[in-house]
This record gives sequence, structure tokens and C-alpha cells, in this order.
Amino acid sequence: MNLKDREEPIELKYFRFLKGRMFLSSDEKQQYANVQKGFEGEVKFDRWIEQNLSCDYLLVKGLLLEHRGELFQIDTLLIFSREIYLFNVKNHVGDYYSNEDKWHFMSGAEIKSPLLQLQRSDFLLQQLLRKLETNTTIKPSLVFIHPEFILYNAPPKLPVLFSGQLNRFKKTLNSKPSKIDRKHERLAERLVSLHLDHSPHTRWPDYDFQQLKKGVTCIKCATFMSDKERKWKCTGCGHEEDNETAILRNAKEYHFLFPDKKMITNVMSEWCEINGSKKKIRRVLSKHFRHLSQGRGSYYV
Ligand SMILES: [Zn+2]
Repeated sequence: MNLKDREEPIELKYFRFLKGRMFLSSDEKQQYANVQKGFEGEVKFDRWIEQNLSCDYLLVKGLLLEHRGELFQIDTLLIFSREIYLFNVKNHVGDYYSNEDKWHFMSGAEIKSPLLQLQRSDFLLQQLLRKLETNTTIKPSLVFIHPEFILYNAPPKLPVLFSGQLNRFKKTLNSKPSKIDRKHERLAERLVSLHLDHSPHTRWPDYDFQQLKKGVTCIKCATFMSDKERKWKCTGCGHEEDNETAILRNAKEYHFLFPDKKMITNVMSEWCEINGSKKKIRRVLSKHFRHLSQGRGSYYV
């Protein structure tokens, strides 16, 4: 049973909404690609669990928890009656090697060890569970979900699941005698209630309204779309969207990027770069948002 859906990381949302509207530095592009790749790996592992496990378990996706002022992230928790699997999912591709505690690209450059992150999450989760008066055993593991990932020189005892091992792992899990009861559900619900929305360390590019390019962007490729009477057509990939969906989607992006600013018809018309009549904008806004008047102005919430 799934107790918490996976949310798209907030920085991924920022990058997605901003990429067509502003210049991103190569570091920012790299960060965007990394976050996106990581998220795709996590979703892939969710799907694997849901399609392959037939045993009795509770699934909790994407937790950000805190214990004694320390934040830690858990990609996936799989709760069985007698143990809890803690997975951190990695979507690395290519050849790497490990040497004692250090992990490297084949070129020799060191990468941040995913194992240290896992050990930290494991340690903090144990402490937290003790505080919640639960002493269920935690089994931590890194999951390398991409079939093209190789880690040379990996010690056999490394708590790692490579994609080629998942099928056997499935059999192990499915043969477990596990019976979930209310006690396990309460623990999972408690952990979900402790989940924090987003880490204060999350970073995304700085931006302001003036600097961002205006227009309606395509949901598929972020290129600007052109207005064809009742629909919009992407100038990049040719994707078409009806007027209402496209404007509403872009108004929601504006609201996400500028949560403190009011949605005024004129501003929204500039944001979507609607030339001529503002009727189009007004119709969509009044249908989907609440119209409020203040003095001589009016806006939507
Ligand atoms: Zn497109």
C-alpha cells in the first residue's frame, strides 16, 4: 500500500518554468539535469516496486525528515512487519570505481560518496525511530536503477542493489512472511506527518519579472507558442494546446514564480504576451480564479 506520493522536487519546478524564459548558466543547466535525472530514477524505482511486489508492505516515497536539527532525505521506505528497507535511489550511468570509502569516475575525479549519505540517513532514521519508540530493524541500501551503471572494485558487502540484481531481490521480498497491521500504518503515518516541504538548502536561479521572457511556453519543450485564434501552437515541436489550457497553465506558472504578486489582467496579459483584446485572458482567469476588487483595481486569487 502506498502511503505517500512522490512530489516533484521544488527546484525542478523552478527550472522547468524558468528554462525557456531566461538564460541558465552551465552550472545551472547541470544542476537541472542532475535533479531531473535523479527524480526520474526515483520514479522508475517506484514503478518497479508497484509492478513487482506482491507481498504485504507499506510504501512511503520521498521523505525529508529532521532529527535534532539535522535534515536527512529518504528516497523510498518500504515497511514490512519485521523490518524497514531504506532505499536511496541513484540514476548514475557509466563506469565508476570505488576505493575504500571513496567513489570515483574512471578518470579519477572523486564524486560525493552516495554511501556516506546513505549511512547518515540510516543513522538519523534509527535515532528518530527510537524517539518514536519503535525498534524495527532498518536495512539500508543504495539502488542503482540504471542498467548501464558499473561500479568497479565494489566490495561484495556494499549495501547496494544494482539493476541486474533487482529480479532476485523481488523474489526475496515476495517470499517474506509479512503482515502489516495498524501499528505499522501508524508508524508510517507518523513519519509522513513529520515530512518537511522542502529543504532550506534547495537552490534555484535568481529571477525577476522584468528579466523573464514573456509569452506562452510549450509544456513539452518550453519553446514559446504562437497564438492561433482558439489554440496555441509550439514554434519548436509543433505541440498544440487549446487556449484555456495554455493560458491557465501559464497563469499557474506565474503564480508559482511570483506567489506574492497579484494576478492582474494587464500583468497576465503581458506575461502571456497577448496582443490585442484582453478578453481571452479575462475569460480564463475569471473561470478558474476568484475575482476580487480593491479600490479601482481588480485581481484574481
Ligand atoms: Zn514544444
